[in-house]
Amino acid sequence: MPQEHAEFDIPGLDIAKAKRYSRTKLALLVGSVAWSASQKLWLARGRRAVRLRSRITESVPDERLATPAFFGVTTTLSWLAGLPLGLLGGWVVERRFGLSKQPLRGWIGDELKGLGLALLLQPALLSGAWAVIRRRPKDWWLVLSALTVPLTVVFGTLAPVLIMPLFNRFEPLRDVELAARIRALADRAGVRIADVYGVDMSRQTEKPNAFFAGLGRTKRIALGDTLTGPFPPAEVEGVVAHELGHQVYGDIWKLIGFGGLAGFGTAWLLSRIAPPLLVRSAEETGVRELADEASFPVVALLLSLLGFGLAPLQAAFSRAIERRADGYALALTGNGEAYASAMARLASLSLADPDPPKPVVWLLYLHPPVAERIRRARSFSASAAPGLGRD
Ligand SMILES: [Zn+2]
Repeated sequence: MPQEHAEFDIPGLDIAKAKRYSRTKLALLVGSVAWSASQKLWLARGRRAVRLRSRITESVPDERLATPAFFGVTTTLSWLAGLPLGLLGGWVVERRFGLSKQPLRGWIGDELKGLGLALLLQPALLSGAWAVIRRRPKDWWLVLSALTVPLTVVFGTLAPVLIMPLFNRFEPLRDVELAARIRALADRAGVRIADVYGVDMSRQTEKPNAFFAGLGRTKRIALGDTLTGPFPPAEVEGVVAHELGHQVYGDIWKLIGFGGLAGFGTAWLLSRIAPPLLVRSAEETGVRELADEASFPVVALLLSLLGFGLAPLQAAFSRAIERRADGYALALTGNGEAYASAMARLASLSLADPDPPKPVVWLLYLHPPVAERIRRARSFSASAAPGLGRD
């Protein structure tokens, strides 16, 4: 119903194109979820995972290597199987919609780095998980979900410092005037930052972004060149003020807490559902118990099903957090005009569907739809009430 958008115009945004992009991405998401589920089913059925596990056990020189080698092979297989759809969604579609200028070589290079990282981490983590399952058949789910929380904290803080620089170049922001404004803003918010970095995000995408990285004294803010290039300083301030809101409210810890609770629930459910399911499907899969790492495809399938159940909750939680950060940004900058225009620029540069269908928002949107964010910022500037305490 195009007439619905007539009252809401976002400068520079081709709404029909944005809708087309968003429908394409949705179709790709549904396709890749179905594809990934059918891979797991394929590997589980006809005793394929069991045969793979046996063959690997026979061919490794030391039996302790069997489990990591099995997970190394499954990681590589699923990377390979995901490549065609990954190429379509991650490169072809992004280029066709003008959202990326990355050459194919660069995309493939990034994918190979991703595989390298996955091979470094996944076999070790999954072998560790199965070692716990074997040693503690009754309460493995409790041990594993408890271990997940500190692991998330470690990875969450290390990733921006150790992993992201593998894909992008981080360096102190060249625009010293802008850096000074950002520092002053952080001071006003009472957030200590060690440095303001610029990141060459345009290597992969045209979509603007900014984020905090690091912990405590090493905390720094990183601004994509996709943000600092096209956005005037007052709008960059708005975006940074939103990120500062997350810092001030401790949103990272809330997300980790939420993830921890979700992890406990999921692991408990898995411990109830997986063992009887494995017994019932043993004829076809050749796997009788969870302790056998060949149960991995069945476990992974169950985990993604349980993840589906959680997705709407997780998305609603995230949207609430994002709304609050928007409120904080408006109060801190007192500039609803700039915030509204930053959101409009964000929408047009990312081809965001301004008012997506409700069910899509409930299931997938981690931020409120951009039309809602702009409306709020405009009404803030209309009420012309700068100062804290609005949210
Ligand atoms: Zn946010």
